[in-house]
Amino acid sequence: MSINTHNLFFMVLVSLTLVNFSNNAALSIFEQKKYKRSADGGGLYSSKDDVEILTVENFKNEIYGNERAWLVEFYNSWCGFCQRFAPSWKALATDVKDWQDVIAIGVIDCSNDDNYPICRDFEVMAYPTLRYFHENYKEGPKNFGMKVYAGSDVNEHRQKLIQVIVNEQIEGRGKMYPNLLPYTYDNKSKLFESVPEKVEYVFLIIQEPSQFLGHEVIMDLHKIKDFVVRYAYNNNTELVKSLNINKFPALYVIGRDNTFQALNSITDNRESYKATIRTFLIPKHINVPLDDKNNKMYTGKWADAPVPDMTAFMQEREREALKEKVKKMGDVIFQMDLETALRYSLKHEIASVKEITGEKLEALKAYLNILVKYFPFGKYGQSFLVELRDYVSSEAVVKGTEIGKMLQDAEKEDRQVFSSPQQWLACKGSSPTYRGYPCGLWKMFHYLTINAADSSARLKGSNPKIVLEAMHGYIKNFFGCADCSQHFQEMAKLREMDKVASWDDSILWLWKAHNEVNKRLAGDATEDPEYPKVQFPSKEKCRQCYNPDNSWNNQEVLRYLKQVYSSINVRYIGSDTRILHLGLDGSFSAGSSTMFKTIDTSMCFILYVASFLLIITLIRMFLKRGYRKKMYVHDLLGKV
Ligand SMILES: Cc1cc2nc3c(=O)[nH]c(=O)nc-3n(C[C@H](O)[C@H](O)[C@H](O)COP(=O)(O)OP(=O)(O)OC[C@H]3O[C@@H](n4cnc5c(N)ncnc54)[C@H](O)[C@@H]3O)c2cc1C
Repeated sequence: MSINTHNLFFMVLVSLTLVNFSNNAALSIFEQKKYKRSADGGGLYSSKDDVEILTVENFKNEIYGNERAWLVEFYNSWCGFCQRFAPSWKALATDVKDWQDVIAIGVIDCSNDDNYPICRDFEVMAYPTLRYFHENYKEGPKNFGMKVYAGSDVNEHRQKLIQVIVNEQIEGRGKMYPNLLPYTYDNKSKLFESVPEKVEYVFLIIQEPSQFLGHEVIMDLHKIKDFVVRYAYNNNTELVKSLNINKFPALYVIGRDNTFQALNSITDNRESYKATIRTFLIPKHINVPLDDKNNKMYTGKWADAPVPDMTAFMQEREREALKEKVKKMGDVIFQMDLETALRYSLKHEIASVKEITGEKLEALKAYLNILVKYFPFGKYGQSFLVELRDYVSSEAVVKGTEIGKMLQDAEKEDRQVFSSPQQWLACKGSSPTYRGYPCGLWKMFHYLTINAADSSARLKGSNPKIVLEAMHGYIKNFFGCADCSQHFQEMAKLREMDKVASWDDSILWLWKAHNEVNKRLAGDATEDPEYPKVQFPSKEKCRQCYNPDNSWNNQEVLRYLKQVYSSINVRYIGSDTRILHLGLDGSFSAGSSTMFKTIDTSMCFILYVASFLLIITLIRMFLKRGYRKKMYVHDLLGKV
């Protein structure tokens, strides 16, 4: 195989194009997977819960250098343990809502690809994993937070958290917490030591060393600065004797004037103790707010919680994630939108005409002709269009129902004509009344003008108006929106469509015409509020398309349009790319990419080597990165 320099340059160029092309296809699959994972792993928690949702975007900002501490659950949406665990973790966040100024209860979904680097960097090896990050936490090579073990239910979670806080205070941290260490003096005289002067009352809870009642009441009421709550253990015998207590737990109030009084709580639990304190303080004009906790919180053992049916939840997440994803992808076109527009036009517009003859028939032929030439179909899609065109060309009168039947047959899965479901992707409106077909139709005709220019510009005697004329004929004879059709025909006259003399002019003509419609419809009732009609392309998308005086830079616009609507910019989310790029025999299809027709066999060799090197590099990167993620491994079980 002899390769001269010119050939070599050409081959490298084409191979780069091909890599780009295949990247596009590969990227879209990758993106599909990524999208799917992020949508699937859209989370077990929502903003309606009292947990704070951490993501790759806010994790480090929240954890590092924060004045409050964090207790974070690293979870995986698809792990059954995590699904069972979620209700009791939500319950904890609700239960300690009044503590969240000093300790936040957070969650991060490690099954979301975007978040995953955080979970990897923090060496999370199993799900769910709980980590405590003390206040003013610093980034450091081994600073992954302190491992915390969950309780078996919300009450135990809370108690484990209290133990963490107490330990923090023993170690000299956690200064933002109220004092959670026990009162150890043998009489009450030191209770007002280091208590602010304005404080008139200290409430003292005497409890067994195994109890958490005092800690809980202290934490719950810590934000109210008019009094202080402390606790002591009943093994502080001198203190117990001096207060004359014989049943535990017990609640006392001690005044700054050294008075003290036993307060009788109806039951020995946290809520009842708080209610007793509230009642005592009402005549003193000190307000203790009532609890507004959600009574529906899950209080059972988390291991017994049913695994929720995630289907509806995930579907909704999926839809939202997809919408965001598509929006973020910006000015790209989707195979799904193009195919859906084509199907709609055949099924709802052409097939609904009883008899197609004369001018209508000519328009249909011209339409099918440009579709055969430039529509981005695979081998079998291409054959279907040829079949349609040949049928239409051979008849003097075409029945719409015949076209309908041919389409119906082509829609059978085994025919492998369509690669996408009949749905809108980028053309999906925020409600069913917006966007859809007209959006798809615009996109399809822009695509066709640009790809016609790309493939036919160099052909001698080619007609640069071929797409515009076909579009004009289609809009005039078949487009269901009568007003739109009328406006378009008028515009074609006014803007002298028939004078378009070059391929580039045809692209720019359609762009200008579309922008004129956008301008007319901006603010109209038909405008989708989520997709306002702006002049295309916007400055954010293409700054260089605008001259300094805000007029259009046509050359840049042309370049931008050619890039946006080029065949290598088609994205395949939701489409079966095998149908588009491969025939059943495993070869590349005739219609999928004109590029492949011109490839020298030597190109395959270069591609082969390039792919091989790429795979080796990827494997090495993968091995280097280390795959530490263990799905569905449960880190808490042995400890509860
Ligand atoms: C030929 C034709 C004429 C129409 N005339 C009317 C009419 O008279 N009155 C009426 O109410 N509706 C008319 N419509 C419908 C209207 O133009 C919109 O298609 C519809 O309101 C949906 O709007 P949309 O927000 O999806 O964006 P669309 O205007 O449909 O645009 C679809 C997508 O094309 C891209 N785009 C936008 N502008 C340009 C541009 N200048 N060049 C290249 N790409 C661009 C953007 O990505 C945009 O999201 C017409 C539709 C067609 C196909």
